[in-house]
Amino acid sequence: MDEKSELLRLRAELKEHSHRYYDLDDPIIEDSEYDALMQRLILLEDKYPELYDPDSPTKRVGGNPAKGFAQVEHPVPLESLNDVFSREELMAFGERVEREGVRRSYTVEPKIDGLSMSLRYVNGVFVRGATRGDGRVGEDVTENLRTIRSIPRTLPSAPPLLIVRGEVFMPKKVFEALNTKREQEGEKLLANPRNAAAGAMRQLDPAITASRQLDILIFNVQLAEGMEFQTHSESLDWLRSQGFPVIDYRLCSSMEACRERVEEIDGERDNYSFCIDGAVVKLDSLADRQRLGSTTKAPRWAIAYKYPPEVRESVVRDIQVQVGRTGVLTPKAVVEPVRLAGTTVTNATLHNQDFISEKDIRIGDTVCIRKAGEIIPEVLRVVPEKRPSWAVPYFLPDTCPVCGAPVHRDPDGAALRCTGAECPAQLLRNLTHFAAKDAMDIDGLGPNLIKALVEEGLVRSAADLYSLDADRVAKLERMGAKSAENLIRAIDASRQQGMARLIYALGIRQVGVSASRTLAARYGSMDALEKADGEELQQIDDIGPVTAAYITEWFSQEQSVHLIRRLREAGVDMESRETVVDRRFNGMTFVLTGTLSTMGRDAAKAAIEQRGGKAASSVSKKTTVVVAGENAGSKLDKAQELGIRIIDEHEFLSMIQ
Ligand code: NAD
Repeated sequence: MDEKSELLRLRAELKEHSHRYYDLDDPIIEDSEYDALMQRLILLEDKYPELYDPDSPTKRVGGNPAKGFAQVEHPVPLESLNDVFSREELMAFGERVEREGVRRSYTVEPKIDGLSMSLRYVNGVFVRGATRGDGRVGEDVTENLRTIRSIPRTLPSAPPLLIVRGEVFMPKKVFEALNTKREQEGEKLLANPRNAAAGAMRQLDPAITASRQLDILIFNVQLAEGMEFQTHSESLDWLRSQGFPVIDYRLCSSMEACRERVEEIDGERDNYSFCIDGAVVKLDSLADRQRLGSTTKAPRWAIAYKYPPEVRESVVRDIQVQVGRTGVLTPKAVVEPVRLAGTTVTNATLHNQDFISEKDIRIGDTVCIRKAGEIIPEVLRVVPEKRPSWAVPYFLPDTCPVCGAPVHRDPDGAALRCTGAECPAQLLRNLTHFAAKDAMDIDGLGPNLIKALVEEGLVRSAADLYSLDADRVAKLERMGAKSAENLIRAIDASRQQGMARLIYALGIRQVGVSASRTLAARYGSMDALEKADGEELQQIDDIGPVTAAYITEWFSQEQSVHLIRRLREAGVDMESRETVVDRRFNGMTFVLTGTLSTMGRDAAKAAIEQRGGKAASSVSKKTTVVVAGENAGSKLDKAQELGIRIIDEHEFLSMIQ
């Protein structure tokens, strides 16, 4: 790809990543990867100034204000920062500003990985808080900010109007606890504390924000009516005297001293209660700042030094395999405890067999671990020189560590999956699916009740539902005699749902509602379906080779046979209610012309459609067959012209018989 096309592609890609990051709080790439793409785009835009675009991600700050919040204009824009990634670049920044004759006095502050906020005080009272948004217009999140205890509500001696800027963050401890809870509840983990804080801030219900225990540190005076500060550090000290929680800063009188402090902060990362992704070096003199001004997006008087993601070595003590709710086997390395990005890491994800084989990770190996997006630690690579002689290649087990059923690789992916229809690890999910609306449609049997039934040991398989004891169910929390009776009645009724719904309820992979109906119609009974072979299944419309393989595999498993037998014993209907589907005209388009002697035009059309064909009104290249009755007109000529097959009424009748 030439560089100009690359530039355009990068712009589009970065826009999409920014939208995911800022507006959806759901990034799909690492910040360091994003930064690398951004650096490349900056370089290309420098090289091709003719492709200038004011809307480029290099010129824009943040995302779009979210719906549901009032918009707030920032009288002083909330700018972003330019980044550097090496000592050399930092020194070059120093040279650049010092060439302008500035005072050599800088502050160095940790760069908190949170989200930027502006807080407005009128006559010393906190009246409004807003997100950065696109830097000029943000979202009014005052009520959510009020849940942060460290934000002072009133100030002892403030000017008539004061606007300060700070970073809201979720402390590391809170973030870890929140993710542990989400993991236990089977919810998607939050990518990093920044996204967690952004999500919490965007809640329309402040009670939810309050439960996320956010905090803030203030790092700038945006506007202080009638007050004059000489330096940034002076303004920060004043903020502290007003009761604000203020960023920790160090004054440095040379760029070399700044560099030392930047490296020191990197070394102290663990000691901070919040995640940092760099350090910010700022000119201290406010007069100098004013002189230097800003570019479209960021000030010229400050720079963010971004740290590379933290990597540490540790030893793999063991590889353990977990079985998820969908039956997928996930290996994780149990490693010697190591401090990483502020937390003690004891295990790291290994994803799947392909990942292990590709990196050749073995028990006993010394590995480099990185905290991806500051959350789930990941093995980056093995250190081959440190491999013990006894280490052997690792392979995931071929039976499920939970239920012992055979494990198969998904025909369409890298995942290994347990095939046990009654595997305890998958029980909650399987039962929820079994009871769902499109499946057995058991009214009142939702995820919470299923969880309670499983936890009490009342249900170990879907078949157990049919022998539940109403008195025992009534004793469950939030149940009672009436609801227990209703539940048992709903379960009873589900016995008559018929084969199509039952097939779907079994949760065979890739067998959805429509394929279940087709199978029920085609085979008529569960007995017949159990005996169907792969070749035969593949002949059916809607059933491809992969689905056919999933079906035959499912019915060949011991646990599946056991489950079907028990459902049958429980009186669950295994016969089909679907009429046999005739698809003989699938993909064919018919055109009728003239009069048929034995049937009307509507009846002929219906006969075509019932068999899966289409009845069109005019002849075209797409027409498959023209049915010519008495007094056929111009359509017949057209069909002859295009060489389309023409049949008479007699032939048509034999086709539909
Ligand atoms: P930034 O986060 O790199 O830097 C500017 C921000 O730093 C300011 O808004 C401010 O709130 C904050 N900050 C924290 N401590 C500060 C301090 N002491 N002094 C001054 N500011 C301080 O820039 P950005 O424009 O907000 O975001 C860009 C970054 O976001 C990228 O570098 C990237 O890492 C990340 N990002 C990632 C993705 C993704 O898909 N992973 C997408 C978009 C952006």
